[in-house]
Amino acid sequence: MHLDIPDIKQEVSTGSLPSRGRVDELVTAAYTRYRNHTAGAVADYIPALADADPNLFGVCVVESAGATHAVGDTDTLFSIQSISKAFVYALVCEAFGHEAVHKRVGVNNTGLPFNSVMAIELNHGHPMNPMVNAGALATTALTPGCTFDEKWEGIRATLSDFAGRELVVDDEVYRSESETNMRNKALARLLQSYGRIDIDPLGVVDIYTRQCSLLVTARDLAVMGATLADAGVNPLTGERVVSARVCRDTLAVLASTGMYEGSGDWLFEIGLPAKSGVSGGIVAVAPGKGAVATFSPPLDSAGNSERGQRVIARLSRALGLNLFASSVQVATR
Ligand code: GLN
Repeated sequence: MHLDIPDIKQEVSTGSLPSRGRVDELVTAAYTRYRNHTAGAVADYIPALADADPNLFGVCVVESAGATHAVGDTDTLFSIQSISKAFVYALVCEAFGHEAVHKRVGVNNTGLPFNSVMAIELNHGHPMNPMVNAGALATTALTPGCTFDEKWEGIRATLSDFAGRELVVDDEVYRSESETNMRNKALARLLQSYGRIDIDPLGVVDIYTRQCSLLVTARDLAVMGATLADAGVNPLTGERVVSARVCRDTLAVLASTGMYEGSGDWLFEIGLPAKSGVSGGIVAVAPGKGAVATFSPPLDSAGNSERGQRVIARLSRALGLNLFASSVQVATR
């Protein structure tokens, strides 16, 4: 689809959050409401994730203006998993422009599970979007750098800039996933056969596995999301990480595909771009306002955190974050 949009200055569409004290109250109320909720199961297809404590639960809001609201286990480290896909996509767009990724990967939902082989075959080798494993592998292959070491260092450094601190890999998770990720290796080979990956596919899987193994906290995820909400400037460090345009593109992709095959329901109910990962993290972004991040390992069948989804649904309403919600304005005619 080509809409031929002229190059005009873009105005922004944003509002503001309730007062800091009120946000504190609402975050605490959402945490308390779901503290004893027990639905879902911890992911176990990566053996190192199976040991996660299902009781861990943290909720953190970081405002684009920098204020932080944290309740529960918001400083517990866990591997970022698929949430890395959002930020690696932003990195590649920043380096090469979104057209490069759009051409190679696309932005449409597959409607199929995140590790689907069938999605590639049904779409004639097209990985469809950067938030499922196939599209993420093709996106990681596009990261700048002549060697895998250079590519990896760029990924680690950029995700660290988003978080505002140096992120490191969980070696146990990296090793565990490396020993069991035959399916991702198969996806990468399949993409190579369709010309969607044109460097060593197993090298690509290796740095993708490392990016998924980076350790973060719910607080880190909220800062990373708040950077996307703040036109690419990290609200805590003041550093510009990516351009405002890249944030807009990344959030558009998250809105349509960030919650896997649950993305349509999510956008309908919550009205926010978001990304989840199988270790139990979710980050949802309210452009111009901030980000909500949650950590709770038990997942639903699509791989999205059960408690996390509920907390964010509640906070989206309570904090007035749904992008599609409006109220009547007094006419000035
Ligand atoms: N590293 C995981 C995988 O490739 C990430 C999946 C996820 O978080 N949904 O399977």
